[in-house]
Amino acid sequence: MNHTIARVPDGGVLAELFCVAFAFGASSGPQDNLDTAQDWALRHTGRNPGHTRFRREHTDHARVIRAE
Ligand SMILES: [Zn+2]
Repeated sequence: MNHTIARVPDGGVLAELFCVAFAFGASSGPQDNLDTAQDWALRHTGRNPGHTRFRREHTDHARVIRAE
């Protein structure tokens, strides 16, 4: 029996970027899409030119469907 898996909008998306320039860096805060979180990182580097590395946390949801 074959199954496929694909992203679904149900449950939403959670994306947050953390500046890792310092031990207690700033973060985008939880966002409901990755682009919004990454826009924050672009602005953050614009204000703080040395802050160029970020840790990205990104979760979404997927559903497995039986393929017959
Ligand atoms: Zn920073």
